[in-house]
Amino acid sequence: MMDWTVARLAGELRARKVSPVEVAKDYLGRIAKHESLGAFLATDEAVTIEQAKAAEKRIASGDAAPLLGVPIAHKDIFVTADFPSTAGSKMLSGYRSPFDATVVAKLAEAGCVTLGKLNCDEFAMGSSNENSAFAAVKNPWDTSRIPGGSSGGSAAAVAASLAPAVTGTDTGGSIRQPASFCNVTGIKPTYGRASRYGMIAFASSLDQAGPMARTAEDCALLLSAMCGPDPDRDSTSLDMPAEDFSRSLNGSLEGLRIGLPREFFGEGLAPDVRAAIDAALKEYEKLGAKLVEVSLPRTELAIPVYYVIAPAEASSNLSRFDGVKFGHRAAQHGDLLDMYKKTRAEGFGDEVKRRIMIGAYVLSHGYYDAYYLQAQKIRRMIADDFQQAFGQCDVIAGPAAPSVAWKLGEHGNDPLADYLADIFTLPGSLAGLPGMSHPCGFGEGGMPVGLQLLGNYFTEAKLLNAAHRFQQATDFHLRKPEGF
Ligand code: GLN
Repeated sequence: MMDWTVARLAGELRARKVSPVEVAKDYLGRIAKHESLGAFLATDEAVTIEQAKAAEKRIASGDAAPLLGVPIAHKDIFVTADFPSTAGSKMLSGYRSPFDATVVAKLAEAGCVTLGKLNCDEFAMGSSNENSAFAAVKNPWDTSRIPGGSSGGSAAAVAASLAPAVTGTDTGGSIRQPASFCNVTGIKPTYGRASRYGMIAFASSLDQAGPMARTAEDCALLLSAMCGPDPDRDSTSLDMPAEDFSRSLNGSLEGLRIGLPREFFGEGLAPDVRAAIDAALKEYEKLGAKLVEVSLPRTELAIPVYYVIAPAEASSNLSRFDGVKFGHRAAQHGDLLDMYKKTRAEGFGDEVKRRIMIGAYVLSHGYYDAYYLQAQKIRRMIADDFQQAFGQCDVIAGPAAPSVAWKLGEHGNDPLADYLADIFTLPGSLAGLPGMSHPCGFGEGGMPVGLQLLGNYFTEAKLLNAAHRFQQATDFHLRKPEGF
């Protein structure tokens, strides 16, 4: 059962071949068995079983919801009423939200049963999951390596079959990069497709929710349930009806023009990753696609631009954690100002503090024009570069990350090493485009390599279809780490 895809599981559940309670118990057992991976921050058997029983009743009553009884787990950046919500931060240790995030509520409505909450980098800031205040998640493919970040717990959980599918969030690559590092399929939709309500905010103009699972087909099923307008609660949610992304799977790739940005295949790309990507592109050619060279000339600028804009927004978003309304409050303090200072000094980790400082600096009088405004202008140019490229191709392909997953502790106290590894995911994020990563081969140390696909706005269905066809012709996505 642990090898079943969401598509298969949903069918067997509906046909009453297995019961939601049975499935949930099986997964909870696996989660407990592999606790040392650090993928989960919270589980609650009573809550999960209660949800599974409710799904069982809905199945019995002939309810037509698409994912009845399918167990999933949520990145701990989504607030949930039934489980604690920490964002991987000591600041929110033990915090309980009075409500569910829209994405969580929508998946529950579709019939999903929640297995628990998944570890992540603190406030989704990071590329290795080592910024979690609670534990560094281990990569199931090699437990001496990082799973990627910030949705590292999410990727590790799917890779280790602790859940058939999970949610993640992607601000600058946090779905695509960990998916690539753990041999998982993940998609970040066009900015505004999924509601950000109840997603603990990092950089609001970039944050997007998305699913991670074994296959593109499963991602399509989950994404269909997650998206849709939420006008009363997220003013940036798009006024577009929910779409059934799985309906358009199985389209031919004959004549599909795949654009390869010259800048994604330069010096910085590790040879083992390059080899896996090249082989995958050959497979796409066999499926009928045509490869064309394109250019995204401002790719390198995406790093400084993102690391100005994201911290700027973070410094503003995180000002709400002041020890007054919720979360941690310093036990020993003097006056109000002292309480703020001690609370924030104790509650936030180093990376979060670093970003708050950078953000406050680039927004300050005198520096705003020099940094923040410049970054916004280049952001627009990066988006324009994509429009130029999409004049010559239908989708863009390249690596999700310049190397396979590195060793735990390898980047030590060098945040820049992490920032630089985001180079291939940041441009798409800054432009607000949909992007995904799917398993495409293996590199150094037998570690997984993911192929990133980027599409123009609202072309999620096209990306999912391409990945689905690729997965029908290959078996990379079916391979599993030893011992899981
Ligand atoms: N690695 C990037 C960062 O640290 C992206 C994180 C994300 O997408 N949440 O900000």
